Amino acid sequence: MIKDIKARGILNPVRQPDDWFGLRYNMNLYRGCQHQCIYCDSRSACYQIENFSDILVKTNAIELLRKELSRKRVKGTIGTGSMNDPYMPVEARRELTRQALQVIAEYRFPVHIITKGDLVLRDLDVICLISQVFAAVSITITTADDELAKKIEPGAPAVSARFSALRTLSQNGIIAGVSLMPVLPFLEDNFENIRQIVFRAHQAGAKYIIPAFGMTLRDRQRDYYYQKLELHFPGLKGKYQRKFGFSYHASANHAVELEQRFRGWCRELGIATRMPQYAPPQVNQMPLFAIQEQAA
Ligand code: SF4
Repeated sequence: MIKDIKARGILNPVRQPDDWFGLRYNMNLYRGCQHQCIYCDSRSACYQIENFSDILVKTNAIELLRKELSRKRVKGTIGTGSMNDPYMPVEARRELTRQALQVIAEYRFPVHIITKGDLVLRDLDVICLISQVFAAVSITITTADDELAKKIEPGAPAVSARFSALRTLSQNGIIAGVSLMPVLPFLEDNFENIRQIVFRAHQAGAKYIIPAFGMTLRDRQRDYYYQKLELHFPGLKGKYQRKFGFSYHASANHAVELEQRFRGWCRELGIATRMPQYAPPQVNQMPLFAIQEQAA
């Protein structure tokens, strides 16, 4: 179901700028996500989204964004893509992400987009415009295998289409890289998967890859994930239960070794493991004595 709603606000301040993307504001133009990844953390009860497959479209988002940006004194990176994918299929018709980027370009704010959607290429013109200030696009890729991706990220474009989008973004001078998170225990935590992602990302011109070797598991998110494990990977739910019990963080098997190998491959290929972040322009302050001399 797709339903229109009115939002009360659109830019949420990020209290502690995150280490990964350096965000100052977060923007969600929709609620719910059509990509339906089986591991999605947005299903957790704390986010109060009753039915995650219902898509709520915030029809007044652009008007709110314009109003909120006109009042902001401090420039900081606006992130989109944390609770839903800004380039899920509904965006092709509704164009909220495109319109929001146009407003961001007008107000000259920096932006970070995280997505699995190759629809991002439709907005290359606006992203190029924003990149005069700062624009980075992280494409999420957790497996190099299209067949596995169909089971764990059933509504998202094929992994090969995501690598191809990454290539086009890089060729157009956009800061683009891979968000390699989560890495699902027993499904994606093997050396060959990580090696292939790193090498294919390199071929596609990725500037960085940000990994998280493991996943979160909590309440409704865990229930949904286990249901889907039973459906697609019989026997795996029991392995998870034995290994992780009710813990919130489920680390990848051999996480330390995986990370060491990952860093080695990235070093070899010259790929950063951190994303370059927006740095506000330095205001040249005239020394006090110079001001006094001028005033005299
Ligand atoms: S694309 Fe992101 S927000 Fe959407 S279902 Fe997948 S993990 Fe969740």
